[in-house]
Amino acid sequence: MPDSLKCYVCGKAIQSRKDLVVTNRAFTRFLTFHEDCYKKALKAGTLLGRPANTTVSDIALAIILLTALVFYLFTRKTLLLLVLVASPIYRFIVWWRFERQLKS
Ligand SMILES: [Zn+2]
Repeated sequence: MPDSLKCYVCGKAIQSRKDLVVTNRAFTRFLTFHEDCYKKALKAGTLLGRPANTTVSDIALAIILLTALVFYLFTRKTLLLLVLVASPIYRFIVWWRFERQLKS
């Protein structure tokens, strides 16, 4: 593994997928953390963006997709189609760039 994932808070390598938290700012800059470091930074009030690779965020994504799909079937709004296409791609990028590199 030439390019190991580093924690944004403590700078040490992240070893396991369970310990990894990925967040983003405005869909452009991804940040990686140890789970504990992320929680500490959150408590300290640091604005880090929402985690993109947790069970909660996956459920939220599924709900967003279902809602967008239902509304799209009724309204045929292009914006909803964009949400339907972009959200899974975004989730895939997080997996591809970060989670794929680590053991679960
Ligand atoms: Zn850390």
